[in-house]
Amino acid sequence: MIENEYSTIKAQTFLGKTLSDCQVLIVDDEQASRLILTSVLEEFVRCTSTGDCLIVADLCRDIKPDLVILDVNMPDKDGITICKELKQSAQTVDVPILFITGSVEPSSQDICWEAGAADFIAKPIVASTLIHRVRNLLQSKLRLDLLSELTFRDQLTGLNNRHYLVTEVPAILKNTIRENQFLGVIMIDIDYFKGFNDTYGHVDGDKCLVSVASALKACVRRPKDCVIRYGGEEFLVFLPDTDQQGCLLVGQAIVKTMYELNIVNSSSPNKMVTVSAGYVVTQPNNNVKLEDIINDADQALYEAKQSGRNKLKGYLKNY
Ligand code: GH3
Ligand code: MG
Ligand code: MG
Repeated sequence: MIENEYSTIKAQTFLGKTLSDCQVLIVDDEQASRLILTSVLEEFVRCTSTGDCLIVADLCRDIKPDLVILDVNMPDKDGITICKELKQSAQTVDVPILFITGSVEPSSQDICWEAGAADFIAKPIVASTLIHRVRNLLQSKLRLDLLSELTFRDQLTGLNNRHYLVTEVPAILKNTIRENQFLGVIMIDIDYFKGFNDTYGHVDGDKCLVSVASALKACVRRPKDCVIRYGGEEFLVFLPDTDQQGCLLVGQAIVKTMYELNIVNSSSPNKMVTVSAGYVVTQPNNNVKLEDIINDADQALYEAKQSGRNKLKGYLKNY
């Protein structure tokens, strides 16, 4: 019966990913327990296991698991602490945690839920219950990934969209204020793009947008950096913990990289697709609104356009 159910689920594809592409990380200090869990699960998902609780965060960064199975009781660091840490990191907050627990006491169960568990399973493990729990959690994870992809991703360029800006970027600003850091914001607009579309048509216009977007993504390297398609041919880059020097480097690299893409635009005076960019760097306080910073980056962009395009303009601002 289980076999048949799997065949159906395996066939469902979410963003090109099926259940068998999912990665499960098993963390348990007992080797025998890791072996049992792996042998039950590796029939239908990819499994990685470790007995070293101290490397869980690093492993998550490397293998990006879709599910973490955590033993509650481990000597170096207990599962509850690891779970809380994973839930505090932006990269792992959405990864479901399934606890393996030896205790069925209500108070122990409460501790698991409060730490952020998605579910738990009692020892000794019943194989079919483990399989069903893992399968259900992974299916929900795949659906959630698809939903957030459709909600937050611009379908043409694959960049974050404007909805992402409204819902997720305020947290970047908040964190910058809390940590008393600098924040760099760059607004980018393709030069003479109306002429490009009029000359080559919208299909080539769209291809150009895709090339510019992917080059833009390659210009920002830190995991916390964030690139957004703000409008038709306008982009926003958020650079947390970046001072003016860093922001200048990224901004200049963006302008240079776009020119070097070597995309011809006969309607531009220099016959190439170029971008103009405006930046603001600030050490924000609680009085600053995201709209203020974006408006100022827009103003700097306007100056870059006015001063001849294919340029970066901007400034350090205290709000
Ligand atoms: P400037 O140098 O001042 O930025 O001039 P521009 O022609 O780029 O600026 P403008 O804002 O007047 O024109 C933007 C053009 O971008 C309008 C439209 O032809 C094009 N555009 C906007 N969104 C899309 C899109 O999704 N696909 C395509 N192909 N073109 C788009
Ligand atoms: Mg524009
Ligand atoms: Mg433009």
